[in-house]
Amino acid sequence: RYYTDYLRSVIRTVPDWPQKGVMFRDVTTLFQNKKAFRHLIDAFVQRYYDFDIDAVAGVDARGFILGAPIAYELNTSFIPVRKKGKLPFDTVQESYDLEYGSATVELHTDAFKPGDRVLLIDDLIATGGTMIAAANLIQRLGADVIEAAAIIDLPDLGGSQKLKEKGIDIFSICEFE
Ligand code: 5GP
Repeated sequence: RYYTDYLRSVIRTVPDWPQKGVMFRDVTTLFQNKKAFRHLIDAFVQRYYDFDIDAVAGVDARGFILGAPIAYELNTSFIPVRKKGKLPFDTVQESYDLEYGSATVELHTDAFKPGDRVLLIDDLIATGGTMIAAANLIQRLGADVIEAAAIIDLPDLGGSQKLKEKGIDIFSICEFE
């Protein structure tokens, strides 16, 4: 509780970015604070230590910053879920609506083995579109999404509820309205 309150307090809120009316939760202030960054990564590593995870899938781009050190500590592989057009080999794709605009994410077709136990991670869950698209890709390759994790959940936007309705468990360090 102390650590989650502390981590939440280190997140910067930027009003009216990238457009008027949006309260952008800026996690660069967590990453640039050495104490906060270590506690943040440790919180995820401790949660997933006994989950028998095979791979951590991080969503482009802040999910990479989180996912790589977590995968390293958990002795798993790291799989980047990339924005369209970045992966050179055969891919699967999912398109989705974002809080601002629309987007497509991709995975290499050989990113997972069927039955792999995957931790999916991104910085924030808003409408859930990004996490659902990423989870669909992982499931299309026959792997299992053990949990979808984020630093921040915005429950009022309904994304975490939508993920739960799809049978995907959610973990977040903190919430904002
Ligand atoms: P969703 O697809 O759940 O609507 O939006 C989540 C995606 O948008 C995540 O990849 C996240 O990085 C980005 N995003 C949306 N709003 C915010 C915000 O306030 N702060 C941060 N850090 N990312 C956001």
